Amino acid sequence: MPAIFKKTDVLVIGGGIFGCSIAYYFTRNHPGKKIIVVERNEICNAATSRAAALMTIVRSKQSYIPLALETYQAVVKLEEHLGESLNMRLSGMMHVAASDNTVKELDHLMGIAQKFKQPYNYLSNNEANRMCPWLNTDEVMRIGFLPGEAYCDPYLLGTFFARCAKKQGAEMIQGCEVTGIIYNNSSVQGVKTSLGTIEANVVIDAAGAWAPIWAMQTGTAIPMAPVRSQYWITEKADIFPEHAPMVLLPDAQAYARPEGGALLFGVREQKSLYASPDRIPDDINHFVFSEDKGMNDLAENAEKLARFFPAFYETGIKYYVAGFSGYTPDGQLVIGKVPGVENFLLASGCCGAGIAVSGGVGLALAELAAGNISPFNLSEFSVSRFGDIDPFSDEWLEKCARARSLKRSG
Ligand SMILES: Cc1cc2nc3c(=O)[nH]c(=O)nc-3n(C[C@H](O)[C@H](O)[C@H](O)COP(=O)(O)OP(=O)(O)OC[C@H]3O[C@@H](n4cnc5c(N)ncnc54)[C@H](O)[C@@H]3O)c2cc1C
Repeated sequence: MPAIFKKTDVLVIGGGIFGCSIAYYFTRNHPGKKIIVVERNEICNAATSRAAALMTIVRSKQSYIPLALETYQAVVKLEEHLGESLNMRLSGMMHVAASDNTVKELDHLMGIAQKFKQPYNYLSNNEANRMCPWLNTDEVMRIGFLPGEAYCDPYLLGTFFARCAKKQGAEMIQGCEVTGIIYNNSSVQGVKTSLGTIEANVVIDAAGAWAPIWAMQTGTAIPMAPVRSQYWITEKADIFPEHAPMVLLPDAQAYARPEGGALLFGVREQKSLYASPDRIPDDINHFVFSEDKGMNDLAENAEKLARFFPAFYETGIKYYVAGFSGYTPDGQLVIGKVPGVENFLLASGCCGAGIAVSGGVGLALAELAAGNISPFNLSEFSVSRFGDIDPFSDEWLEKCARARSLKRSG
C-alpha cells in the first residue's frame, strides 16, 4: 500500500455536481470537520457539464420535490456567498397535453403543484402560442403553466457549489484518481488514489456513471445503469424567443427550452443506448456515443415532434450533446447508507434529474456523513430495493435503459 497521503473525516469520490454539493453543505453545516473531494479530471467535466439543466420542481415523482426545492434555496445562498449571479432563468414550464391520457396526467400534476404550494395556472392555446411561436397548438387539449420552474448553466451551478465549498474549507483535489476502496471487516476505511492513500471516517461514492465499479469493491451492487441522454440545439430563429418558457410535450415524449435565441430539445428514444460502467472510458470528452449523432433517434421521433413543432423539418441543427446519466428501473435515485457496510454512503442513480435535485442530495449526504439523520425521507431511494442484482449484466442494463425509453418527458 502506498504511504498515507492524507486523513479526513469525509472523502468524496467524484467532483461532479453531487460531489461538489455534498462538500458545500458539509463545510457549511459542520465547520471544523474536514472533507476532501477527489476528481480524476476537472470538476464537473462529465455528466454535469452536459446537462440540459431543466431544474424541474413539480413532477409526478413526488420524492424528488423537496430535494429540488432545496436546490433553489441553495442558489440564493451561493449567489450571496460569492457575490455573483448564476443567471438562473426563471422561465416557467408549460405542460402541453394533446390526448385524454395526458390531460389526466396534467391535471394530476397541477394537483401536485397545489400540494407543494407551487404557483400554477392554465393557458389558452393562443396565449401559449404567443409565448412560444414555434409551438403548434392546433391539436392541443389543455396547457398547464408552472411559472416557478427554471433552468440554469449546470457547469456554473456545479462550480458555484465547489467554489463555496473551498471558501468554507473543503479540499478539492483534481487530477487525482481513486483506484481502490480500503475495506476491512465490513467497514470502509479510506481509498487508494493515484497520489497515495487517503484514510477517511466516511467515504461517499459520487462517481457518476462509474460509481458501481467502486461500490462493488465492498460487495455493493448499485441498482442503476449508465444510459445515454442526448439533446440537440437548433440554429437561431425568430420563432425561438430568448425568454420563452420551457415546454414539456408528453405526447411526443419530448421537451424543449430556449437556448440564447435557438431551441434546445430532447426526445425519448424507443431503445435507449447504455453501457456497462466498466466499459466507459475515464474521460468521456472524446467518447463517440453513436456515429449518427442520434440522428436515427431523431428521425424515429420526427413525426411526433413535428405535430407540435412544424418548423422542425426546415430548421437546421447546430449542436448535438450526449452524456451518461444513471438510470434505475423505477426512476428513483440511489442515495444513502449501504446496509451491512459501515462508513460508506452512495450518491448515485440520478435518472436525468441530478442538476434539479443537487441541493437536496448534497444536504442529505452531508448530514448522513456527519452522523445525523437526513432532513429528507430517503426510503424510496434505498440501495437494496431491488434485492440481489448484477449491475454489470446485460439483462440489468437493458432493464434500466427501458425505464428511460418509457419516461414520458423531461
Ligand atoms: C445530455 C444530458 C442532459 C441532462 N439534462 C438534465 C436536466 O435537464 N436536468 C437535470 O436535473 N439533470 C440533467 N441531466 C443529468 C445530470 O447531468 C446528472 O444527473 C448530474 O450531472 C449527475 O452528477 P454526478 O455528480 O452524479 O455525475 P458526474 O457529473 O458524471 O460526476 C461524476 C464525477 O466522478 C468522477 N470520477 C469517476 N470515477 C472517478 C475516480 N475513480 N476517481 C476520481 N474521480 C472519479 C468523474 O470524472 C466525474 O467528474 C442530464 C444529463 C445528460 C448527460
